[in-house]
Amino acid sequence: MDIGSTFQPPVHETMPQDTLIECPNCYTKHTFKVLGTERAATPLEDGLTEGLLVCPECGNETHCYWMSRELREERAKIFGTIGVLAKRRTPINFQRIKELREKYKILFDIEQAKYKEIAEKEDGRTA
Ligand SMILES: [Zn+2]
Repeated sequence: MDIGSTFQPPVHETMPQDTLIECPNCYTKHTFKVLGTERAATPLEDGLTEGLLVCPECGNETHCYWMSRELREERAKIFGTIGVLAKRRTPINFQRIKELREKYKILFDIEQAKYKEIAEKEDGRTA
């Protein structure tokens, strides 16, 4: 399984890679860097990926988020703009950055609700 280097969590959920997280199944602790991974969720939708925490001890999987191709593109645009705005630290730019982060969070939350419903219908999972 592809763990680590390519894992890009949604920015508002970003935590330091060395954060220790306890497995809810076997209670061992591992860093976010070790646990975090993404996999294709193409049976649900073409281009959809699922972000997960996978325990190396017991294999327990914890769902984190869904990321469609559209959301990934929108996210790249939004954070690209934020990157540009952050170079000039003016009050207007700070406000604009705040608004863009809010916009992304709303898009993200809508998407999570959408795919939660789809996934539950597909295979009865409760992710
Ligand atoms: Zn475990």
